[in-house]
Amino acid sequence: MDKKELWQKVLAQIQNKISSTNFATWFKKTKIISKKDKCITIAVPNSFAKEWLKNKYNDDIKKILEELETNIETINYTISNNANKKNSKNKKDKKADLIGQLGFQEFKKDKDTNLNFKYNFDNFVVGPFNELSHAAASAVSENPGTVYNPLFIYGGVGLGKTHLLQAIGNKIHKSFPRKKIKYISLEKFTSEVVSSIRNQKMENLKIKYRKIDVLILDDVQFLAGKEKTQEEFFHIFNTLYEKNKQIIISSDRSPKSISALTERLRSRFEGGMIADISYPDYETRIAILKTKSKEKDLSFSSEILDYIATNIKKNIRELEGALNKLSVYQKLNNEEINLKKVKSLLQNFMQSSRKKATPQEVIDAVIDFYDVNKNSLLSSCRRQEIVKPRQVAMYLLKNELKLSYPSIGKKLGGKDHTTAIYAYKKISKKLEDDDNLEGEITLLKQKLASA
Ligand code: ADP
Ligand code: MG
Repeated sequence: MDKKELWQKVLAQIQNKISSTNFATWFKKTKIISKKDKCITIAVPNSFAKEWLKNKYNDDIKKILEELETNIETINYTISNNANKKNSKNKKDKKADLIGQLGFQEFKKDKDTNLNFKYNFDNFVVGPFNELSHAAASAVSENPGTVYNPLFIYGGVGLGKTHLLQAIGNKIHKSFPRKKIKYISLEKFTSEVVSSIRNQKMENLKIKYRKIDVLILDDVQFLAGKEKTQEEFFHIFNTLYEKNKQIIISSDRSPKSISALTERLRSRFEGGMIADISYPDYETRIAILKTKSKEKDLSFSSEILDYIATNIKKNIRELEGALNKLSVYQKLNNEEINLKKVKSLLQNFMQSSRKKATPQEVIDAVIDFYDVNKNSLLSSCRRQEIVKPRQVAMYLLKNELKLSYPSIGKKLGGKDHTTAIYAYKKISKKLEDDDNLEGEITLLKQKLASA
């Protein structure tokens, strides 16, 4: 391992252990400038950083070096004054500096795999709500390409899909360093397809993907309506699948509920393992808050954790956001925080996620979600792929916004109030035994709440 790679690995680990502010303050402009025998020398920007690293983080760094199975025993710190050497800098260094200033994404993402080191199985809390997905993910990471292929994980916003997908990638990367892994979001993949088409380089793109052993594609719900992307993905999928390469996919809804997905792609998705993530129960929410507090070097009373866990139920990202907010306050004011303060600090936070949507927002969300044409939705078209979204929109307008039936009819292109009543009843009835529909409605509600 060369010194640059070694230091990146150390930094990635450190980043998992300490708060991002501390990381930025103390590790941002550091690097290993020499690695000889059993000794490394780390360059730091100033004497303050030197003292701080030596006294506060030396043990952590040593421990990580041990874990990485290097034989380093001594760490020296030296001040390097980059400012004076600016003129002699080459382009590469300048670029590295710039990336550093932008928030050291350099350390966050592995260039080849596109994976973020911070997501792993160790910091993923498991509870009844994500047990199945976790078990499947873990099995796949141990035997890529053989057990569940493809693995399709779905669940609402902020519930850990990306974390789990990346954890699989990181684990495979560690256990099978030779395997070529690629993590990519569907949006990014789509833009690759689009630019390959534009530059007539489609063949190159195919060749590139053919070489991959583990393809991780995040947020495939955005495939809806993108025919060309679907087509290219279908071919790449088949090529990899036939060679027993592992494919892992996430989506905010089940394959059945992704509208405008070609039948052949849907059946491919359904051909492997499908696992969902639902909402964390109270105990798991507390466990997550505790894990995150520890990661961020925070400690709040159980009363405070209870307050957060009782009020934020459906989004782990928001649980984390609440902690961050309290943490910033505590750091700026340098004072212990009490429940009363917590309530006032989180008030906006919680209100904003409960703010009511307008009827127009509901209709737009439905249009976006089912990828239907607005004119068709408001028309009297009887095609099933239009009727269902229209009924869902009516249902939401009643259930969420409590509009009257006549005004619901009016909002959906001047329909009669009896049509709205019928739609509301129909969807309510269907919800009793159609899990997919229930998932779709929950997602729509979530999207409206976070809009
Ligand atoms: P999604 O991709 O489903 O929208 P993410 O994977 O981005 O959600 O998760 C949002 C945040 O919540 C991330 O910071 C992630 O680390 C955290 N998170 C989600 N699930 C868990 C879990 N089970 N344990 C610990 N952290 C989690
Ligand atoms: Mg995600």
